Amino acid sequence: MTADTPLRLRGVVLPDGEPRDVHVVDGRFSLTPVAGAQTVADGGYLVPGLVDAHCHVGLGEHGAVDTAAEARGHAELDRDAGALLLRDAGVPVTFQQVYDDPELPRIIHAGRHIARPKRYQRGFAVEVEPDELVATVEAQARAGDGWVKLVGDWIDRDVGDLAPLWPGDVLAAAIGRAHELGARVAVHTFGEEALPDLVAAGVDSIEHGTGLTADLLDDVVRAGCALVPTALNVDNFGGIADSATRYPVYADRMRRLEAASRDRLRDAYDAGIPLYVGTDAGSMLPHGLVVEEIIRLTEICMSAERALAAGSWAARRWLGLPGIEEGGPADVVVYDADPRADIAVLRAPRRIVVRGRVVR
Ligand SMILES: [Zn+2]
Repeated sequence: MTADTPLRLRGVVLPDGEPRDVHVVDGRFSLTPVAGAQTVADGGYLVPGLVDAHCHVGLGEHGAVDTAAEARGHAELDRDAGALLLRDAGVPVTFQQVYDDPELPRIIHAGRHIARPKRYQRGFAVEVEPDELVATVEAQARAGDGWVKLVGDWIDRDVGDLAPLWPGDVLAAAIGRAHELGARVAVHTFGEEALPDLVAAGVDSIEHGTGLTADLLDDVVRAGCALVPTALNVDNFGGIADSATRYPVYADRMRRLEAASRDRLRDAYDAGIPLYVGTDAGSMLPHGLVVEEIIRLTEICMSAERALAAGSWAARRWLGLPGIEEGGPADVVVYDADPRADIAVLRAPRRIVVRGRVVR
């Protein structure tokens, strides 16, 4: 079978739950039969490719990798877990041949992180002062695929605690400029203080968001802003606190944020804020954990079906890609049983087709 051979998959298509024959030709779905198609799945459940909406291909557990082979390894781990669309939430290195590889997940890039000097992990971000933020957002909006990544808060070692990076008026100007350029803005926040200005400034996606308090929820909903809670990584806050022995106030803060995180996430979900699945792979966590993050969300607040949507068709729509539809890009994962009934089914994909190619 060559990459040009049309494919046929038969099964129950999610989210609508109808049994159907789906064909793949030239990397796209066709819902009408295609002559000469080879059957690659017969039976089971067809799920639009899973989505990791917050990861970092090219960042390993020890920072930026040196070689395309290592970055490829990250993308393969994500793909083999079923994640066929990735939103890369900031990397300091570029591996174009990995992004262009038709057998690897599609990656939507947010350019590089934007932070202030000494106010993020060393070596990751473009580091600028507030008077340079608008121009830097412009540059990163042009470098990325429709997303810009800001660091909204981080430890301020002079204060010994989390603190916002940017004044509110500067954020409003920078996020407004990104929107003029057609880019959306994702922002890293852990604490409470940075969020009111960010929400007022029109941020599109709150990453981590452990400081999202009840008083802000209605404003976030009204703004149409999403939350990518990276719940598995929030479980690491205690470890971050343990290693921050020189900053006891900060350490205590991180522990309290982790302790409150599940209730806050549940409140955000109940308020109607759209949640999407992101693992934050590529700093503290390895790649390939998309299914574990989906399962984690079912443990905290979401039904299996809603968590699957947040890590598949709903996230694809949010990022601008259709699911299993006529003419849509042919990203599909096949499972033996219905993941809406038992989410753990996602741990064992039977067949993976990315960009119209069978990779498993
Ligand atoms: Zn991240």
